[in-house]
Formats: sequence, C-alpha cells, structure tokens
Amino acid sequence: MKPLEPTDSIPASGRLLVNATAAIDADRVVAPATVLLERGGIVAMDTPGAIGDPVVDRRLDVRGIVCPAMVNAHAHLDLTDLGPIPCDSGFDAWLGRVREGRPVSAEAITRAVQAGVRASIAAGVAAIGDISGDRGLVAARTLAESALAGTAFVEFFGIGRRTDAAVAAIHRLDADPDRIRESPGFRLGIQPHAPYSCGPPVFVAAAETGRPVSTHLAETPEEIRFTTSGDGPLLELLRRIGGMTDEAGAVPVSGRHPIDQLLEVAPRRPWLVAHLNYPAEPEEAEDSRRRRFEALADAGITVAYCPRAARFLGHPRPGRLGHPWRTLLEAGVEVALGTDGMPCLDTPDRLGPLDEMRRLRPEAPDLDPRTLVRMATTAGARGLGLDPGAFMLSPGPVAGLLAIETDPARPVEGLFEGTATPSWIVGPDRNATAIGSGDVADAHRGRIP
Ligand SMILES: [Zn+2]
Repeated sequence: MKPLEPTDSIPASGRLLVNATAAIDADRVVAPATVLLERGGIVAMDTPGAIGDPVVDRRLDVRGIVCPAMVNAHAHLDLTDLGPIPCDSGFDAWLGRVREGRPVSAEAITRAVQAGVRASIAAGVAAIGDISGDRGLVAARTLAESALAGTAFVEFFGIGRRTDAAVAAIHRLDADPDRIRESPGFRLGIQPHAPYSCGPPVFVAAAETGRPVSTHLAETPEEIRFTTSGDGPLLELLRRIGGMTDEAGAVPVSGRHPIDQLLEVAPRRPWLVAHLNYPAEPEEAEDSRRRRFEALADAGITVAYCPRAARFLGHPRPGRLGHPWRTLLEAGVEVALGTDGMPCLDTPDRLGPLDEMRRLRPEAPDLDPRTLVRMATTAGARGLGLDPGAFMLSPGPVAGLLAIETDPARPVEGLFEGTATPSWIVGPDRNATAIGSGDVADAHRGRIP
C-alpha cells in the first residue's frame, strides 16, 4: 500500500470506512475488521457484519492490519543524525563516537530533533517521551513545534559539589516554563539523568515541580554498586569528570538499591523510568525483586523498556537474568516500549516501538498479542500522562490510525514479522491525546446511521 502522508488523510468532516483483514489494539483483536471514522475520530470498530453498510464519504481497503498510532516512551531525538553506530570496537569506543558526534550548535540540535520526529512519524509514532539533552532547550522547543504529542524531559546532571547547581537549575526552569510552548497533549518534564549522576536532592527538586518526571534507573550493575557502596567504575567516572564528588573525591550515597532510593523520593510522583535491567542483585534476598515490583506498581511508576538498545548495549550481562518485563507486567507494573537513541538501533529511517515489538515477539511467542500492542500504545500514553483512549480503537478521538501490510493468512502475527512500514490513515493528532479531549469530541460525533 502506498504510504499516506500524515496530514493528507481524510477530509476533517468526512466519514471514512476502513475494511481490514484484522484490527488490534490493547483490548481487542477483530478479524476481519471494519473501522468507521468521522472527523478524524473513531465512531465504531467491529466486524463488518456488526458495522453494516453506513453512508460514508470514502472507503479504504487495507490488506493487512489496522492499529492505533504508537507511543515511544523513551528516546533521545537529538542523537538521530548520528545514525546507527556499530559497537564492534567495544563499548567505550562506541560511547566516544556518540559523545563526539553529539550535536552542539542550535542548528545541529534542531536538525537532529526534526530528523527524529520524521523517523518517529515514519514508524507510526504519535507521542514520545524525549530526553532533551541540551540545557538551551533547543531540543525541547523543536519537539514542542512538531506534530508529536508527549513530553520533552529536560535532562539535569548534578551530584557531589554540583548537586546544588542542578537543584537551582530545576527551580529556574520551573519558574520560567514559558520558554517552551506547552499545549494540550504536550508538556515540559524534568529528567534527573540517573542515580549515579544526580544526588537525591535533584530527584526531590524534580518531583516537587509537579511536572512529568523521568530518569534512567537500574540500568547497569555498576549503578547499583555505586548507590549501595559509593565506589566502583562510576565513582571513577565522576572523579574523571571533576566537580561531581566532594573535596576528598568521594560521594555520600544512600546505601540503597536505586529502585528503593527512587521510591523514597518525596513527594511521590508517577516516574517514568527507563531500562530497569537489574531490579535485584544476585546476593539479595529472594523476595527483593517481588517486593520492589509491588512497590513500583503501588507508586504508579511506568517502566520504559528498550529491547533493541538493551541487547545492543550488552544486557543482560553474562550470568544475569534477562529483562524482567514479563514479571513486571504480572506484578501490575505498566511496561511501555521505548527505543533509546538511534545510535543503538538498526532502522535508520524509523524510530518507534513497532520494531521493538518485532524484536520481543520471538522471545515471548506465547504472549497475548494485545499485551505487546498495549506496551507500544496505552502503557506509554499512561506513562506520559496522555489519554490512553486516544491510542485504542474504541469510540472517541484517536491520536492516529495505522495500516500495516501483513500476510493475509496470519494478519495479527504478521504485525510482529517482517519489516513493513506503517501507513497513516488518520493523524497524528496531538490534540486528541490530551486528557479530556474526548468530552468535547464526543458531543460532535454522530452515530452509525
Ligand atoms: Zn536514555
């Protein structure tokens, strides 16, 4: 099928009937499926027999599956222009190339984020949790002006002697948010980079703003060694950077696992945490994982899992358990899919969770396909404070509707196979993702005649 341009879908007032081999969202699989749309929102999705033959302005046949637009819960759009960077000369060499290639000028950052937005839309993404790495807010401003919904999390670093400066910078940003234009469906958030690069007061200051908050959490065993013992390679890294320790070259630490440390931050906020590769150490008591997962669920925390980046960066380490995403789901923790940055990926033209689902499916062939779709849609929406309903095929405003060509004999499994790129039938629509937008739109929406 020829890709439709996102903004060139259907007349805003028109009625569109889409017949597809199948449809899937976080709740339902219907095959064959018919979706009736009006004014860009969904009136009904069901079997062709249940929808009947309504009067419409246009019909579209999809040889494959239709699904809602997707959410990328964790990305670094400002790294998009670096493209995929092979890791064949070791991790340090790879990181060196990422650091050297990272855009510095406002023009280069703008260009990179715009490329990231294009790659996101090409992947069927309507909302994103992007880490804005530059303190000049260029990345955040560029995302604010794009078609994508979600949050630009402005990233802060500050531990040791730099803790107070990071806290002051968060207060300054929070006092003057007008530097970035927020709009329904798009917010400015705060990201303390990680527990080894930000002291506990930085996490508290971020939480106190009441803004969306995110961080990298329990990403490596070295991070856990640092927060529990205050030593190891990450202390050495802080010493090399300089200014990130006290005068004696040490950093006072909580002595706690990074997850426990975050859960103790007050005020309590529904953090969006990236990675969580190592929820417990091998020497810890057997119930440590379970206890932490229950506490994460209880706190309403969303985990952004980036399967391709995790594998690329060598997780799990030899001898360690694989990523706990299925156990987290069983414990009631929302697990959303993220991509991390383009240098870790293998799809230079596409940045989104569709390829993450394709990576995960062979590891979990028994899993209900709706669970994977939930991780690529409503889970991320919840983590970003957006309306999950806009990422479903239920009646109401929709962030976007995608068509993906699949094998007609196995249309649902086909979604997780191959490399077909999604086409936009409707959207992306940032306004539709805002909580409460459905109340207005419902009043305008007609019924099936
Ligand atoms: Zn990241």
